[in-house]
This record gives sequence, C-alpha cells and structure tokens, in this order.
Amino acid sequence: MADTKYIFVTGGVVSSLGKGIIASSLGKLLQARGYKVTIQKFDPYINVDPGTLNPYEHGECFVTVDGHEADLDLGHYERFLNIQTTKENNITTGRIYQNVILKERRGDYLGKTVQVIPHITDEIKRNIKSLGVKSKFDFVISEIGGTVGDIESTPYLEAVRQLRWELGKNCFCIHLTYVPYIAAAGEVKTKPTQHSVKELQSLGIQPDMLVLRTERKLNKEILDKVALFCNVEHGAVMQSVDVTTIYEVPIMMQRQGMDEILLRKLNLPYDEDPNMEAWNAFLQKRKDAKKAVNIKLVGKYAELPDAYKSITESLSQAAIYNNRKLELDLYQSDKINSDNVAELLGKADGIIVAPGFGQRGIEGKFEALKYARENDIPTFGICLGMQCMVIEYARSVLHLEDANSTEMDTMAVHKVIDLMEEQKNITNMGASMRLGSYDCNLKKGSLAFKAYGKTKIKERHRHRYEFNNQYKEQLEAAGMKCTGFNPDSDLVEVIEVPELRWYLGTQFHPEYSSTVISPNPLFMSFMAEAAITKELRNK
Ligand code: GLN
Repeated sequence: MADTKYIFVTGGVVSSLGKGIIASSLGKLLQARGYKVTIQKFDPYINVDPGTLNPYEHGECFVTVDGHEADLDLGHYERFLNIQTTKENNITTGRIYQNVILKERRGDYLGKTVQVIPHITDEIKRNIKSLGVKSKFDFVISEIGGTVGDIESTPYLEAVRQLRWELGKNCFCIHLTYVPYIAAAGEVKTKPTQHSVKELQSLGIQPDMLVLRTERKLNKEILDKVALFCNVEHGAVMQSVDVTTIYEVPIMMQRQGMDEILLRKLNLPYDEDPNMEAWNAFLQKRKDAKKAVNIKLVGKYAELPDAYKSITESLSQAAIYNNRKLELDLYQSDKINSDNVAELLGKADGIIVAPGFGQRGIEGKFEALKYARENDIPTFGICLGMQCMVIEYARSVLHLEDANSTEMDTMAVHKVIDLMEEQKNITNMGASMRLGSYDCNLKKGSLAFKAYGKTKIKERHRHRYEFNNQYKEQLEAAGMKCTGFNPDSDLVEVIEVPELRWYLGTQFHPEYSSTVISPNPLFMSFMAEAAITKELRNK
C-alpha cells in the first residue's frame, strides 16, 4: 500500500468502554485482509510510563520486548494481532513533555517560547507519524486514552484535528460512546452520545464512524437516529453489545461491516472477506470446551483481576487449546495460612503463584507453595512466584529457616534471592529493573524444554532480584533443578522439581508472549497437566 493510513479511536461519555478492544478488533480485521497493522496508545497522565503505578491505579503493567513498561491495552493489541509492540506503541503525556523539555534544554527551539500548541501537539503528531513511516505499516491505529471533554486529553485531540487536515484521505476517526438503558423508562438513551459527539465536533473533529457500547441490542431506528444527529453516514454507526468473550468482538464488528465501511471510505478494495479462519477455529474450540479445569491463582491483588490480565488471558487461551473451560479462582495471599490452605486450595487442578512486589502476603504464598508441593498439585510460579518457590524449598527442604529474598529481609542470613550487582546502586525507580526480552537456554530433558520443544528461547522480564547462584548446588542436590539460564550472565531463569508432576517457576514472565493464535508453551504444558489432575480427581 502506498500511504500509511492513520485511524484514531476516541472515547466519550464514560471511561472503561473498551476502546482497546475495539481498536484491537478493527486491527485484527484489517490484518486478516493482509495489511500490516499496528496499534498505539496515548495515555493522558503525567507519569512517564505506568511502571511506577501500582495495580490499584492502573491494573497490570505490560512489558514490551524492548523493555518498556506499558499500559495493559498493549497486551490486548499483542494478543489480538499476534504482533510485538515496542516503546513507540505507548506514550504518556509525561513522556511527551519530557521529550519537549529535553529539546528545550538542548536549545532546539532556538529561543522560541515553548507552548502546548504547537510544541506539545507537534511532539504528539511526530510520535503518531513516525510509527507508521519507520516500520512501513499500512495502518496505524492510535487509541487516545481518557474521555472527550477531559482537560488532559485536549492536546491529543488538537493533534488529531490537525492531522485530519494534513493527512486528508489517509485519516479516519472512530468515536466510541455509551448508550445507557434506563430501567424506569424502559428505554435506551442516545443523548449522552449526541453530547459527546458535539463535544468532539466543538474541538474540530467530525467522527467518520461511531461505535455505541450497549448492554441491550439497539434497533436500526436508534442507529439511524444517532447517524442523523451526529452527521455520521447511515450504516457507519456500529453497536458493541456485551458478549461472552472479548475475542467475539472482531466477529461482531465484521458482521456489521466495520472493516468494509472503513476501507470504502479510504478508497481501498473491500470485495474479499478477511481471513478469520484461525480466529474462528479458536472461538469454536472455546464453545466446544465443556469439561472444566480449576486453576487457583494466589496473588497480592486477588480482588483486582486486571492486575493479572496477561496471566488470566494466557490461562484461558491454554485451557481452550486443551479443550477445557477455565474455572479461575483468585486468592489474596495475605488471607492464606496453614489453617485454611487445604480448604482453599485443596480442590485446585493447578495453582499459579503470581508475580508481585513487597512483603505483604508473602507468607501466604509460602503456605500455598508448601501445600502444592506436598500434595503434588501442578504449580506454576511466575517471577516473584518463582522466587517464593526457591525460598520455600530452601526453608522446608534445606532447613535454612531464615532463607529469604533481600527484597523482604535485607538482614536474612540465607539470601537465596538477592539483588543483582548492577541493581545495588540504583536510586531511580522508573524503568530501572531488568526489563524486556532476554535469551534463555533450556536444559534438554527438562519440563521447560519439553514444553517449548527447543533449547533456545526468549521471554520478557520485569524484576530487580535474582536467584542467588551460591545456593544452586545445595538446592539441586536436594531436588530443585535449575533448567533455564541466561547465556550471557548465567543467571537462573527456570527452576523445576522433577520428582513432582509439574512444579516449575520462571524468573521471566511467559504470560506476555501468549496470544490467541499462538498460546505460550509453558501455559499449554501447565494446563495439560492440570487437565490430567482433573481427570484423576474424577476417577
Ligand atoms: N519483586 C520481585 C523482583 O523485583 C519480583 C518482581 C515480579 O514478580 N515481577 O525481583
């Protein structure tokens, strides 16, 4: 395709409407027509990246291959499109300002007064356009975070307004709104949508397409009425009704002709259908999966499922590919103790001990792991979960009672998990962990090797602390084997207890690389073993 096309997705009325899912769904449909597509998210907050935000603020922090701590929507983009995103795919107001201020300090503005317009808007535009040009994408979909009308989103919308003029026919704007159902009146209401579009128009942006988020199916009359009042072509008002899985959304959008309308308006061919074969096969498998598998996730933020978004998605993908329906229970680790652990986890077919930071709930993770190990329940420890596996094993099996991570106890005699040398003098908290994709060599014959089917893999990291190699010999002699290593630093990345059925921990985060079309091999292997546990229980 000659020119890159730029699609903007804005949102109105309320937040949490699922702009990321709509952007991903459209991206999927275009990709399934053979186009090269990427999606970018702008977040209107001042933090330079979400890496320093706690999960209560922002849910999970997603990590890109190039080590950027990113918004969780990038996880959706990767899972839907089976692509890898980078630092360029997630930009915050903080980063825009940081770049502009850096340039100002360098003297790049040649004595001019630096202002929101044009300098901040120019920097936003540069970040949108450079993504398309650099990697020669056919489509760049830019999701503008926040809600139209928010003070902090205004510079982004001004940048979109300017780009509409500059890009002309290569630009398309989609606005996502909410249509509430008022029970007392027995009616759905379109007024908030009309107001939201007016707000957008007052900023100089006329949307080309509207997507109405609704809990009840809207009839054609309502869609036509919205089209008329909002200056949008008839037929270009879509509805996004609640569906049982977000992975149905691309199909729901396809049925309404979302991709066709967009392609027609951009003067691109639309006569052939997108090839959604693999996607539909996945959805069919999901429908056909009747037998359940029960996974219990132990984490600090169990009351907050968004904190473990990539893990829960990876589990559900792996369950579907193993022809199982995922039954997932989340447990807050600080509520687990030796008295209730059997009652809480006894019926698990598999246990996941989640990543995390800090002391709170750590003892509950040890209890869960001890129980899982002693009862030989398939168990998967991720990052902090893996570190806890090592600590628990050192305490219970090696009888090193005070074994710990220096993150939890700097005075511990047995620092089985310790700070890396290069981390010791770091004082800045932002983007200073071991981040992004690293090589890992797997030992032949190990569980991890069998899962991946090869010795050389790459997975993403986000942590400061590491397995302390001084304890390797002792742990291995006692049955905990180190089966994955970083080839450059010799750091231990995978541990397993081969005498158990499936007891494995990874210092990396395999959940970030699992997608709908290509589920992560470790999750697949874990789920297969959990399904066997279920069968054994039923016997
Ligand atoms: N807190 C641990 C560390 O920094 C683990 C981090 C994580 O689980 N992502 O090493």
